[in-house]
Amino acid sequence: MVAQVVILLGPPGAGKGTQARRLSADLGVPHVATGDMFRANVEEGTELGRRAQEFMNTGRLVPDDLVTEMLFVRVDGVDCGDGFVLDGFPRTVGQADTLDRGMDGRWTSSVASLEVPDEALVERASGRLLCREDGNHIHHAIFSPPVTEGVCDQCGGALYRRDDDVPEVVAERLRVYREQTAPVIEHYAQNGRLLPVDGNQSPDDVHRALRETLGSSTVEGGK
Ligand code: AMP
Repeated sequence: MVAQVVILLGPPGAGKGTQARRLSADLGVPHVATGDMFRANVEEGTELGRRAQEFMNTGRLVPDDLVTEMLFVRVDGVDCGDGFVLDGFPRTVGQADTLDRGMDGRWTSSVASLEVPDEALVERASGRLLCREDGNHIHHAIFSPPVTEGVCDQCGGALYRRDDDVPEVVAERLRVYREQTAPVIEHYAQNGRLLPVDGNQSPDDVHRALRETLGSSTVEGGK
Protein backbone atom coordinates (compact mmCIF):
# COMPACT_ATOMS: atom_id res chain seq x y z
CA MET A 1 0.00 0.00 0.00
CA VAL A 2 1.30 3.48 -0.84
CA ALA A 3 1.55 5.62 2.28
CA GLN A 4 -0.55 8.71 2.57
CA VAL A 5 0.73 12.23 3.18
CA VAL A 6 -1.54 15.10 4.21
CA ILE A 7 -0.31 18.51 3.07
CA LEU A 8 -1.85 21.33 5.05
CA LEU A 9 -1.67 24.74 3.41
CA GLY A 10 -2.83 28.14 4.61
CA PRO A 11 -1.60 31.60 5.54
CA PRO A 12 0.26 32.40 8.78
CA GLY A 13 -2.17 32.35 11.69
CA ALA A 14 -4.65 30.06 9.91
CA GLY A 15 -4.23 27.31 12.53
CA LYS A 16 -2.09 24.90 10.49
CA GLY A 17 0.04 23.88 13.50
CA THR A 18 -2.94 23.12 15.74
CA GLN A 19 -4.79 21.19 13.06
CA ALA A 20 -1.72 19.34 11.79
CA ARG A 21 -0.95 18.10 15.33
CA ARG A 22 -4.50 16.82 15.72
CA LEU A 23 -4.50 15.09 12.34
CA SER A 24 -1.14 13.50 13.08
CA ALA A 25 -2.56 12.11 16.34
CA ASP A 26 -5.66 10.84 14.49
CA LEU A 27 -3.60 9.11 11.84
CA GLY A 28 -0.77 7.93 14.08
CA VAL A 29 1.85 9.44 11.75
CA PRO A 30 4.44 12.17 12.43
CA HIS A 31 3.71 15.88 12.25
CA VAL A 32 6.43 17.35 10.05
CA ALA A 33 6.58 21.14 10.42
CA THR A 34 9.44 22.95 8.70
CA GLY A 35 8.99 26.04 10.92
CA ASP A 36 9.34 23.87 14.07
CA MET A 37 12.41 22.21 12.58
CA PHE A 38 14.03 25.58 11.93
CA ARG A 39 13.17 26.81 15.43
CA ALA A 40 14.74 23.65 16.92
CA ASN A 41 17.88 24.33 14.86
CA VAL A 42 17.98 27.94 16.04
CA GLU A 43 17.66 26.80 19.66
CA GLU A 44 20.39 24.19 19.24
CA GLY A 45 22.63 26.80 17.61
CA THR A 46 23.30 24.75 14.45
CA GLU A 47 24.72 26.22 11.26
CA LEU A 48 21.34 25.64 9.55
CA GLY A 49 19.60 27.49 12.40
CA ARG A 50 22.03 30.39 12.11
CA ARG A 51 21.39 30.69 8.37
CA ALA A 52 17.61 30.33 8.71
CA GLN A 53 17.23 32.78 11.58
CA GLU A 54 17.89 35.97 9.62
CA PHE A 55 15.08 35.07 7.21
CA MET A 56 12.67 33.98 9.93
CA ASN A 57 13.17 37.08 12.07
CA THR A 58 12.22 39.35 9.20
CA GLY A 59 9.27 37.25 8.00
CA ARG A 60 10.96 36.12 4.79
CA LEU A 61 11.20 32.60 3.44
CA VAL A 62 14.32 30.53 3.97
CA PRO A 63 15.83 29.69 0.54
CA ASP A 64 14.33 26.62 -1.16
CA ASP A 65 17.52 24.54 -1.20
CA LEU A 66 17.98 24.76 2.58
CA VAL A 67 14.35 23.88 3.27
CA THR A 68 14.00 21.01 0.82
CA GLU A 69 17.21 19.35 1.92
CA MET A 70 16.16 19.52 5.58
CA LEU A 71 12.68 18.22 4.71
CA PHE A 72 13.81 15.22 2.68
CA VAL A 73 16.32 14.15 5.35
CA ARG A 74 13.42 14.23 7.83
CA VAL A 75 10.84 12.33 5.75
CA ASP A 76 13.40 9.68 4.83
CA GLY A 77 13.21 8.68 8.52
CA VAL A 78 11.61 5.27 9.10
CA ASP A 79 8.83 6.83 11.18
CA CYS A 80 7.57 8.62 8.04
CA GLY A 81 7.31 5.38 6.06
CA ASP A 82 3.56 5.10 6.68
CA GLY A 83 2.96 8.75 5.87
CA PHE A 84 3.08 12.09 7.69
CA VAL A 85 1.26 15.38 8.04
CA LEU A 86 3.12 18.22 6.40
CA ASP A 87 2.76 21.70 7.91
CA GLY A 88 4.45 24.79 6.46
CA PHE A 89 5.76 23.12 3.30
CA PRO A 90 5.58 23.69 0.35
CA ARG A 91 5.66 27.48 0.48
CA THR A 92 6.86 28.18 -3.07
CA VAL A 93 5.99 26.63 -6.42
CA GLY A 94 9.61 25.41 -6.62
CA GLN A 95 9.16 23.54 -3.33
CA ALA A 96 5.86 22.07 -4.57
CA ASP A 97 7.54 20.80 -7.75
CA THR A 98 10.39 19.24 -5.74
CA LEU A 99 7.87 17.64 -3.42
CA ASP A 100 5.79 16.24 -6.29
CA ARG A 101 8.92 14.65 -7.76
CA GLY A 102 10.19 13.39 -4.39
CA MET A 103 6.88 11.73 -3.51
CA ASP A 104 6.46 10.00 -6.82
CA GLY A 105 5.42 6.39 -6.24
CA ARG A 106 6.45 6.46 -2.60
CA TRP A 107 3.62 8.39 -1.07
CA THR A 108 0.32 9.76 -2.33
CA SER A 109 -0.88 13.06 -0.98
CA SER A 110 -4.04 14.92 -0.07
CA VAL A 111 -3.80 18.69 -0.08
CA ALA A 112 -6.08 20.70 2.20
CA SER A 113 -6.00 24.47 2.49
CA LEU A 114 -7.32 26.38 5.49
CA GLU A 115 -9.13 29.51 4.38
CA VAL A 116 -9.26 32.42 6.80
CA PRO A 117 -10.05 36.06 5.92
CA ASP A 118 -7.08 38.44 6.08
CA GLU A 119 -8.49 40.58 8.88
CA ALA A 120 -8.60 37.57 11.26
CA LEU A 121 -5.02 36.48 10.51
CA VAL A 122 -3.00 39.35 11.98
CA GLU A 123 -5.12 39.27 15.14
CA ARG A 124 -4.71 35.51 15.50
CA ALA A 125 -0.97 35.35 14.93
CA SER A 126 -0.14 38.49 16.91
CA GLY A 127 -1.87 37.23 20.07
CA ARG A 128 -0.58 33.67 19.94
CA LEU A 129 0.98 32.31 23.17
CA LEU A 130 2.85 29.02 22.98
CA CYS A 131 3.72 26.64 25.81
CA ARG A 132 7.38 25.71 26.29
CA GLU A 133 6.41 22.29 27.66
CA ASP A 134 3.93 21.14 25.03
CA GLY A 135 3.34 22.51 21.54
CA ASN A 136 -0.28 21.32 21.69
CA HIS A 137 -1.10 23.80 24.45
CA ILE A 138 -1.89 26.98 22.59
CA HIS A 139 -3.35 30.09 24.22
CA HIS A 140 -4.23 33.47 22.80
CA ALA A 141 -3.87 36.81 24.57
CA ILE A 142 -7.42 37.82 23.57
CA PHE A 143 -9.35 34.69 22.55
CA SER A 144 -8.14 32.22 25.20
CA PRO A 145 -6.01 34.08 27.75
CA PRO A 146 -4.38 31.99 30.50
CA VAL A 147 -5.79 32.29 34.04
CA THR A 148 -2.33 33.33 35.30
CA GLU A 149 -0.37 35.56 32.96
CA GLY A 150 2.52 33.75 31.30
CA VAL A 151 1.53 30.32 32.65
CA CYS A 152 -0.07 27.50 30.64
CA ASP A 153 -3.52 26.54 32.04
CA GLN A 154 -3.06 22.92 31.01
CA CYS A 155 0.37 22.08 32.42
CA GLY A 156 1.83 25.11 34.22
CA GLY A 157 4.55 25.50 31.56
CA ALA A 158 5.88 28.95 30.67
CA LEU A 159 4.06 30.69 27.82
CA TYR A 160 6.00 32.64 25.21
CA ARG A 161 5.47 34.51 21.96
CA ARG A 162 7.32 33.54 18.81
CA ASP A 163 9.87 36.18 17.78
CA ASP A 164 8.11 36.47 14.41
CA ASP A 165 4.60 36.89 15.86
CA VAL A 166 5.02 40.65 16.42
CA PRO A 167 2.59 42.64 14.22
CA GLU A 168 5.22 44.10 11.80
CA VAL A 169 6.70 40.67 11.08
CA VAL A 170 3.25 39.06 10.81
CA ALA A 171 2.36 41.70 8.20
CA GLU A 172 5.52 40.86 6.25
CA ARG A 173 4.80 37.10 6.52
CA LEU A 174 1.35 37.75 5.07
CA ARG A 175 2.80 39.81 2.23
CA VAL A 176 5.31 37.03 1.47
CA TYR A 177 2.51 34.48 1.67
CA ARG A 178 0.45 36.33 -0.94
CA GLU A 179 3.42 36.78 -3.23
CA GLN A 180 5.13 33.38 -2.97
CA THR A 181 2.78 30.87 -1.34
CA ALA A 182 -0.61 31.77 -2.84
CA PRO A 183 0.66 30.44 -6.22
CA VAL A 184 1.19 27.06 -4.50
CA ILE A 185 -2.55 26.93 -3.75
CA GLU A 186 -3.13 27.71 -7.42
CA HIS A 187 -0.66 24.95 -8.41
CA TYR A 188 -2.69 22.30 -6.55
CA ALA A 189 -6.04 23.79 -7.59
CA GLN A 190 -5.03 23.56 -11.26
CA ASN A 191 -4.11 19.90 -10.76
CA GLY A 192 -7.57 19.36 -9.24
CA ARG A 193 -5.98 18.28 -5.99
CA LEU A 194 -6.96 21.12 -3.66
CA LEU A 195 -9.44 20.53 -0.84
CA PRO A 196 -10.46 23.94 0.61
CA VAL A 197 -11.64 24.00 4.23
CA ASP A 198 -13.20 26.90 6.13
CA GLY A 199 -10.58 27.76 8.75
CA ASN A 200 -12.61 30.60 10.23
CA GLN A 201 -14.39 28.47 12.83
CA SER A 202 -13.54 27.07 16.26
CA PRO A 203 -10.55 24.68 16.30
CA ASP A 204 -12.91 21.72 16.95
CA ASP A 205 -15.11 22.65 13.98
CA VAL A 206 -12.10 23.09 11.69
CA HIS A 207 -10.82 19.68 12.80
CA ARG A 208 -14.21 18.10 12.04
CA ALA A 209 -14.39 19.82 8.65
CA LEU A 210 -10.86 18.70 7.80
CA ARG A 211 -11.60 15.11 8.69
CA GLU A 212 -14.78 15.13 6.61
CA THR A 213 -13.02 16.72 3.66
CA LEU A 214 -10.02 14.41 3.78
CA GLY A 215 -12.36 11.45 4.03
CA SER A 216 -12.39 8.34 6.17
CA SER A 217 -9.84 6.59 3.98
CA THR A 218 -7.23 9.10 5.10
CA VAL A 219 -8.20 9.86 8.68
CA GLU A 220 -9.00 6.77 10.66
CA GLY A 221 -9.77 6.25 14.32
CA GLY A 222 -8.65 8.88 16.81
CA LYS A 223 -10.79 11.65 18.24
P1 AMP B 1 6.08 28.61 10.45
O1 AMP B 1 6.33 28.10 11.83
O2 AMP B 1 5.59 27.56 9.52
O3 AMP B 1 5.20 29.85 10.44
O4 AMP B 1 7.50 29.06 9.86
C1 AMP B 1 8.27 30.07 10.50
C2 AMP B 1 9.31 30.61 9.52
O5 AMP B 1 10.20 29.56 9.12
C3 AMP B 1 8.76 31.17 8.21
O6 AMP B 1 8.31 32.50 8.33
C4 AMP B 1 9.97 31.04 7.30
O7 AMP B 1 10.93 32.05 7.57
C5 AMP B 1 10.57 29.71 7.77
N1 AMP B 1 9.99 28.59 6.99
C6 AMP B 1 9.24 27.55 7.47
N2 AMP B 1 8.89 26.71 6.48
C7 AMP B 1 9.42 27.22 5.35
C8 AMP B 1 9.38 26.83 3.98
N3 AMP B 1 8.72 25.74 3.58
N4 AMP B 1 10.06 27.59 3.08
C9 AMP B 1 10.74 28.69 3.46
N5 AMP B 1 10.79 29.13 4.72
C10 AMP B 1 10.14 28.41 5.67
